[in-house]
Amino acid sequence: MKQPPVELDQLRSIVGAANVLEGGDAAPLLTDWRNKFHGEAIAVVRPGSADEVAQVVQWCATHDVVVVTQGGNTGLSGGSVPVDTRTALVLSLTRMNQIESVDAEGWTMTVQAGVTIEAMQDAAAAAGRLFAPDWGARGTATIGGAIATDAGGNNVVRYGNLRDQVMGLEAVLADGQVWNGLRALRKDSSGYDLKQLFVGSEGTLGVITRAVVKLHPATPHERSAFAALTDLDSLMALFAMARDTVGEALLAFELVPEVGVQKVCDTFDLVHPMANRSEFYVLCKLASGRPVDDDLTNFLTSAAEAGLITDAIVASTAEQESRLWKIREELPPTGLYEHQALGLKMDTAVPIERMGEYHDAVRAIAAEVVPGALAYGFGHVGDGNLHMMVLPVTDDQVEPFLERRDELIARIDAATFDLDGTLSAEHGVGRDLRTRVEPQKSPIEWELMRTIKRALDPDGRFNPGVLLPSE
Ligand SMILES: Cc1cc2nc3c(=O)[nH]c(=O)nc-3n(C[C@H](O)[C@H](O)[C@H](O)COP(=O)(O)OP(=O)(O)OC[C@H]3O[C@@H](n4cnc5c(N)ncnc54)[C@H](O)[C@@H]3O)c2cc1C
Repeated sequence: MKQPPVELDQLRSIVGAANVLEGGDAAPLLTDWRNKFHGEAIAVVRPGSADEVAQVVQWCATHDVVVVTQGGNTGLSGGSVPVDTRTALVLSLTRMNQIESVDAEGWTMTVQAGVTIEAMQDAAAAAGRLFAPDWGARGTATIGGAIATDAGGNNVVRYGNLRDQVMGLEAVLADGQVWNGLRALRKDSSGYDLKQLFVGSEGTLGVITRAVVKLHPATPHERSAFAALTDLDSLMALFAMARDTVGEALLAFELVPEVGVQKVCDTFDLVHPMANRSEFYVLCKLASGRPVDDDLTNFLTSAAEAGLITDAIVASTAEQESRLWKIREELPPTGLYEHQALGLKMDTAVPIERMGEYHDAVRAIAAEVVPGALAYGFGHVGDGNLHMMVLPVTDDQVEPFLERRDELIARIDAATFDLDGTLSAEHGVGRDLRTRVEPQKSPIEWELMRTIKRALDPDGRFNPGVLLPSE
């Protein structure tokens, strides 16, 4: 929506004139990472403290302006940019990037919401500790955005999602009050766990301004392996074997399809890790305080003897390891197929034991609806989370694909629900899945969520059009 002219001087006096961006300065922050959602705002405002956030929120309440909170703008569900019919302001927290304390003895870290995941990893490592969350956007994604989407990433098998890392939060509420829930308690059974309401709330309940998160023991011994699967049916047996043989040391277990590996290698000047190609590979990582090499060798040997893998390589240097992970993180590579942009990309999770069923179901639906369309999965198999891609590969598939796209989505979504799965494993609902996600929960569950929204944000000030389906 075209934004009406609004006098911004008061905002400038709150955050400083240089931190009220308009026009071309604001434009990059009004489009999401995937370039799918574009919005308009009266300004992008960059506060430097919780107090400034509170004053900006109060200003928005007075002027009936909605608040779209933004961190690194790496979200993949379109929740970080305004696309509504109301006058909007984008509140960018990237200036709030202070690591306030690293408590190595207490195993916690206290940070402002705009600190990046990578900065937190580095600060923890400098103190001999580990901040566990990790994914490709680590250098740009902020802890505020990660908490707001309950982000996952590569290490969830071992450490869980962001929800499992957050110990305490500070948030600015709709009336401009600052709620300080910055507790570092491992145990607290004194009532409702309010901080968890903000985890996965996607900016709809308030503005997260600070957080206390857990730190874990450092894992100086790490090793990654890339193994060629005999076939996709071997996948879950391989995962079970990994858990049984290496136990707690299993940090990540990712499915990597051959589709895309060569393209990533070509683009980034990497050598394809496998001499003998397979349709699917597994990239797994072990990490521990003690050496893991024997565990990894035992696991790979047992897997080969059981016929689950046909080949494997173990990264022997940090350089080799980062090249293997680069391949995973660049999937799916842009420009792999001419019509890739038309394709569907799912962020589905199903109960782990039903992963194979889900993968087969999507392939069967794709083959039936658009014969010849390509359907393949990659991602965080260890968490029951597959990013399934479905796309037309030839020119003559484009028209039937576009004609039947809605049917394809509806049938794949229905298959997800039949398997007791979720459409959003780790990217949030945002604007993208808002309508599609509705059948996933019962009316009573949505009503409970709306009751919480109404209680915390009675005027619908925070991120309207995100997460909750229309009433
Ligand atoms: C290359 C790449 C790889 C990725 N891999 C993964 C992955 O493996 N796992 C995964 O979970 N995600 C992944 N993501 C998605 C994304 O990085 C995460 O969702 C991330 O946590 C978003 O953080 P952000 O700071 O960029 O948030 P933004 O994109 O700015 O915002 C995301 C949502 O959070 C809200 N929000 C942001 N900050 C706050 C705050 N302080 N208070 C309240 N609400 C707020 C926004 O309003 C929006 O709804 C990936 C993204 C990219 C680009």
